[in-house]
Amino acid sequence: MNHFQPRRGQLHAERIPVATLAEAHGTPLYVYSTATLTRHWKVLKGSLRGLDATICYAVKANSNLAVLAHFARLGSGFDIVSGGELYRVLKAGGHPAKVVFSGVGKRDDELAFALDAGVGTINVESAGELVRLSAVARRLKVRAPVALRVNPDVDPRTHPYIATGLRESKFGIPVAEARRLYHQAVKDPHLDVRGVACHIGSQLTTLRPFVDAVGRVRALAADLAGAGIRLRHLDVGGGLGVTYRDEQPPSPDQYGAAIRKALAGWEGAVHLEPGRVLVGNAGVLLTRVIQVKRSGKKTFVVVDAAMNDLVRPAFYGAWHAIEPVVAPPAGARAVTCDVVGPVCESSDFLARGRKLVLPAEGDLLCIRTAGAYGFTMSSNYNSRPRAAEVLVDGDRALLARQRETYPDLIRGEALARPAPKPRPFRRRRG
Ligand SMILES: *Cc1c(COP(=O)(O)O)cnc(C)c1O
Repeated sequence: MNHFQPRRGQLHAERIPVATLAEAHGTPLYVYSTATLTRHWKVLKGSLRGLDATICYAVKANSNLAVLAHFARLGSGFDIVSGGELYRVLKAGGHPAKVVFSGVGKRDDELAFALDAGVGTINVESAGELVRLSAVARRLKVRAPVALRVNPDVDPRTHPYIATGLRESKFGIPVAEARRLYHQAVKDPHLDVRGVACHIGSQLTTLRPFVDAVGRVRALAADLAGAGIRLRHLDVGGGLGVTYRDEQPPSPDQYGAAIRKALAGWEGAVHLEPGRVLVGNAGVLLTRVIQVKRSGKKTFVVVDAAMNDLVRPAFYGAWHAIEPVVAPPAGARAVTCDVVGPVCESSDFLARGRKLVLPAEGDLLCIRTAGAYGFTMSSNYNSRPRAAEVLVDGDRALLARQRETYPDLIRGEALARPAPKPRPFRRRRG
């Protein structure tokens, strides 16, 4: 369910024809729907009824300030993976006590920033990190709120680049080692042991691996309780998938029911770290056709969005629906083409072998389900200024991020100082 629908042959974002947004702000342009963000957050929250659950939105999926501020207003917490993301959450009005700090390599300065800000939990991912966190907390004269991120060793059956819960993955701590570390941590006066966490991967389309992982973490928590270590919360991570093409991920209600079942008898709080499922289809990327090019038997639709704007197709071979913003005449014939960007890489494609009614130069195309891991993974490769972002709410549109300019591209760069003048040459006297 999303609020990007055609009306009278024109694609709309809520009540605004997206063509007028492209006209006003140029392309490539990310457009987000407030109604869709709200709906997804509330449906997920509703599916967790009966649980003491906190939704900690995973900021890396879409970290635009206006998006974060909207989730903050709904009462959301946040899952962050860097000091930069914490900075954004604080600027957007997020509540630090509802922030979970995840990630396999947090620097000391990032840990100090998080402790200073008063984040709710730091999800520690190694024995060494636990030692460093304790030292930073001692220096700041605080107690660090800690959960251990356990690696439950289950196969999430997703793309290998976004699977994080296998034994050989760099993420998390094996269960047996975690058990030992809990016994160590509870004796440390600079650590406040609060919970346990896991996150097995992204774009999960079946519940089985998820249920297995939560079950293993639940068992560890029960084990620890038996040894007198009572945890207050259990963090089930994120990872719920969305439909890009024909995937059929579990519904939020099925997901909520699975959590309730896997946690039967658990009396503590539950944290969730959803990213993609909240923002994925709440965003589209608008792009304009620069050129239609035939090369041998192939047809290329060259558009002004590229892998630097949306890297998922190049990076994961991801499939995104692409459709014309203005519906083509009924009965128009579709041809097979590649939709590519201008970047100088053969992996710079948005779609390959796609059936489309061939657009004309200047036509607008909409790339769907681009709200998650779209803008946040964008770059300036090929010295391309990054796209603008617009957040639509009913018939209003907020320019949530200005398009970058050429001066933005070189901000902070320096020209080398002119080389020192050569000394005058003097002939040696003989
Ligand atoms: C990326 C990430 C998430 C969010 O994953 P989604 O698939 O977007 O829901 C949650 N928790 C952690 C630790 C992550 O790294």
